[in-house]
Amino acid sequence: MRKPKLRELKEAVIAVFSPRFTTRFPAEPCVVPESYRGKPEFDDDICIGCGACVNVCPTNALTQVEDLNADCPSRKITLRYDACIFCGNCSDRCTTENGVNLSTQWDLATLDRSETVETKEYELQLCEKCGEVIGTKKHLVWLCNKLGPLAYTNPSLLIAKSNELAVNPEETAQQPQPEPDRVAQPSDFMRILCPKCKCEVNIQL
Ligand code: SF4
Ligand code: SF4
Repeated sequence: MRKPKLRELKEAVIAVFSPRFTTRFPAEPCVVPESYRGKPEFDDDICIGCGACVNVCPTNALTQVEDLNADCPSRKITLRYDACIFCGNCSDRCTTENGVNLSTQWDLATLDRSETVETKEYELQLCEKCGEVIGTKKHLVWLCNKLGPLAYTNPSLLIAKSNELAVNPEETAQQPQPEPDRVAQPSDFMRILCPKCKCEVNIQL
């Protein structure tokens, strides 16, 4: 019994003369290491709205909804960081690698949970024949850039890319009305089509 007590006494004496291990927060800012996993932050320039991060989020802190009836069909990705467990799955599995990263922002407490909601909106590309969702316009352009010369085998990607470079983007934002029952025509080769319609056009012509 004596030995442990002497050891505790020794630890107590050492602790009294050792530097402080706690921080002076909130009197002084708390600096966390660079590798700290804090609030996920989207990079609007890099994120293409593909939704891969939503699929791997274990807590549904990330969700997405699509509005196909709006004049400009869109996908909204919402982050509720009050439900985030900072696991880093979204960042690790991001299609573009840096579309979302965990920042060092850790002081996230609030009395109003509505403040913890952030929403990003992305324009959708629908199939010009059947109206099905192909993906976001940014995703198609990203694929075209990623494939380089190989993208010339896929007119949908090339048209998506040329629309992005259009002089008047408002004109290209108007998506044609889908015509699912129309018989395939040679001009369909130069339309933005989903894989199913593309296959049908290839078979019929
Ligand atoms: S860090 Fe984890 S829990 Fe938080 S948004 Fe990303 S995947 Fe979801
Ligand atoms: S996976 Fe990456 S690129 Fe895709 S929506 Fe999430 S953050 Fe954006």
